[in-house]
Amino acid sequence: MSRSSPFEQTETGRDHERGLSLAETLLPVKWAAARVLFILYIGFALFTVVGGILTAPLATWYFFGDWRFWRHWRPVLRLYGQGWRVLGLMVRGESGFMFDVPLTAPPYSAPVPNLTEINPEWAHGSACGECSRCCEKIHCPILDQDTGFCGGYDSFYWRYFNCGRFPSNQREIDYYGCPKWVMKEVRVAPPTLEAKVASDRPCP
Ligand code: SF4
Repeated sequence: MSRSSPFEQTETGRDHERGLSLAETLLPVKWAAARVLFILYIGFALFTVVGGILTAPLATWYFFGDWRFWRHWRPVLRLYGQGWRVLGLMVRGESGFMFDVPLTAPPYSAPVPNLTEINPEWAHGSACGECSRCCEKIHCPILDQDTGFCGGYDSFYWRYFNCGRFPSNQREIDYYGCPKWVMKEVRVAPPTLEAKVASDRPCP
């Protein structure tokens, strides 16, 4: 194998860096495209009914991270009813913040760390214990009633929409009555020296 010259190595390194930064720049586009495709797919499945059944492997991959649709047929059928119910909530304006994740936001499998923290009075550490209030509040069919666990943990839907990043704000905590999470206090930074000097200047 021939060795490249230092010049070539530098150029390759720069290309690599340029490639990485371009990929990073395009990530929000990728996330938005993924969400738009999902929303279009859900619309297609809900309105055609048969379309969702014919594409069942895709539906179970989206909601359960599993192409084996026969393992999830019961909750998938209930998702039809859930889809229409949630649409009704949206039309009535009750669930406005359930779907307020921006299209270009990164997917998350856990709450955004600098936004939330576990309530010091919560006794179960990072786990939810016996609680499943948030899932029950919206009668989520993906909640496994036997185990009390989410059947779609870390699936596409979980990561790209509200579940993985729950809670994102105080309204969500209040809506679901979540006893585990609290929003972190936003501390106002002390004024900088430059800002103080500027504010001490007399008005022109
Ligand atoms: S309401 Fe809070 S504590 Fe209860 S299951 Fe949901 S996230 Fe966990």
